Amino acid sequence: MRAALERMDPLAAADDSRAFHSVLCEHCPNEFLLGLVTQMSERLDSVGRSVIVFMLQRTLAVVDEHEHLLGLIEGKAEEHEIERYARDHKLRAVTTYIATRTALAGTPSLVAAW
Ligand SMILES: [Zn+2]
Repeated sequence: MRAALERMDPLAAADDSRAFHSVLCEHCPNEFLLGLVTQMSERLDSVGRSVIVFMLQRTLAVVDEHEHLLGLIEGKAEEHEIERYARDHKLRAVTTYIATRTALAGTPSLVAAW
């Protein structure tokens, strides 16, 4: 992700982020939860990748958050601490996405691209 951002390629960074989450989730024993996570990811993809370009500030923060999450896992933090951080990470992503989409909705040329 960091390399993609250094190349100023937010779409590649988004692909890398998706791959990161896929690896983290692939061994989830809760199929229902995994289905919800997959659905949410697919919904975000389906609304268009144009919004991702406008979320660069968030994407920069995501790299640090992923590293922090890996640090929690590698450091064998308590499960509830890892779970809370992962949930907050996802909530920040959704909140930023909604705010960005709302802000872009007032820009007719960008809305037409969706
Ligand atoms: Zn993430």
